[in-house]
Amino acid sequence: MILAVSTLTAPHLRYRGRFAPSPTGPLHAGSLATALGSWLDARARGGQWLVRIEDLDAPRCIAGADQHILGQLRACGLFWDEEVTWQSQGQKAYQSALEGLYCRNQIYACTCSRQTIANALSKQGRLKPRNQEQVYPGTCRAYFRPQGDFSREAHAVAWRLALPPEKTIAFTDDLLGLQEQKLSQEVGDFVLRRADGVFTYQLAVVIDDGLQGITHIVRGADLLSNTARQIYLQGLLGLPTPHYRHLPLVLDAHGEKLSKQTLAKAIDTDSEAAVLQALQTAALHLGLHGLKNTPAKTVAQWLAHATQVWAGEAPA
Ligand code: GLU
Ligand code: ZN
Repeated sequence: MILAVSTLTAPHLRYRGRFAPSPTGPLHAGSLATALGSWLDARARGGQWLVRIEDLDAPRCIAGADQHILGQLRACGLFWDEEVTWQSQGQKAYQSALEGLYCRNQIYACTCSRQTIANALSKQGRLKPRNQEQVYPGTCRAYFRPQGDFSREAHAVAWRLALPPEKTIAFTDDLLGLQEQKLSQEVGDFVLRRADGVFTYQLAVVIDDGLQGITHIVRGADLLSNTARQIYLQGLLGLPTPHYRHLPLVLDAHGEKLSKQTLAKAIDTDSEAAVLQALQTAALHLGLHGLKNTPAKTVAQWLAHATQVWAGEAPA
C-alpha cells in the first residue's frame, strides 16, 4: 500500500510541528531545549504542536518515563494541541508500508549480525571510522530475488531498503542551510524492520510525520545525519517532505551530548522559579539573546515573551 499524500495532508495545510521524545528517561537540559525550540517555532508561526512518544524500541524504554516527560512539559507550560500518540500503538501503518515496499522489490531480507558486517567491511578494507556510522556492505543483497507473499517470508530476519547506486539527497535546513548526504556510500542499505520484529526509527518517524501532517520538524542536530534517509523514504512512500530545522545540541563539560548515558540530570520542576530557570537556560542555549533581561515573573509570561523573541530572531 502506498500512503496517499492528498488525503493525509490536505486537512493540515497550516503549520504543524511536533516533539517526539523517546521515553528512555526524563527531560534533561538538552531535551528541554529541543522541546522548547519546536514549541516556540510552532507558536511564533501560529501553528499547532503535537507530542508523540517514540517507544518502539522497548528494551530502551523506561516504564513511566513517558508520563514523567508529559508532566515536565506541562510544568514548563509547553502544552500540546492534540492527544498524545504512542508509536507502539500504531504498528499497522508501519507494517503496511513495509509490505508495500516489499511488493515493489524495494526491500530485502538480511541475516547479517554486527560481527558479519564488521568482518565483511574489514575484508573490503573499509574499517569503520571512529564515531561514524557503519556502512552496510550489501552482503545480503546478493540473495535479493523477486518477492512473493510477504506473510510467508521468514520472520527472524531484518529488512533493509535497497538503495539505488550513487543516491545523493540534498535539502536545505532552515537553520544550517544546504545539506547533502551520499546515501549509498555514507549510509548504505538501512534497516526498516529489525530481526526482532521492531520497526526502526527511520521508518516509523517518516510514517508518523506523514500521517500526522507534520509540516515543520524542529529537533536536535544529533538527528541531522538521519534526515536524508527520511527524505528518501518519504519519496518512496509518496509522502511530502516537511521543513527541517536542526537545533544546536547542549553539550556537557566533556563536549558530549547530554543523554541518559552521560547521566544528564532531569530538569527541576519543583517550583515556578526552578522552571523559569530551566526555561531561561534552554532559551539562551537556543541563542535567544533578546530574553536575557526578560521582565517575566511567571512561566506563562515568560513563554509569551519568548514566543515574541523567537518570532523576531529566528529567520523564517
Ligand atoms: N525520538 C527521537 C529522539 O528522542 C527524536 C525523533 C525526531 O525528532 O525525529 O531522539
Ligand atoms: Zn545481511
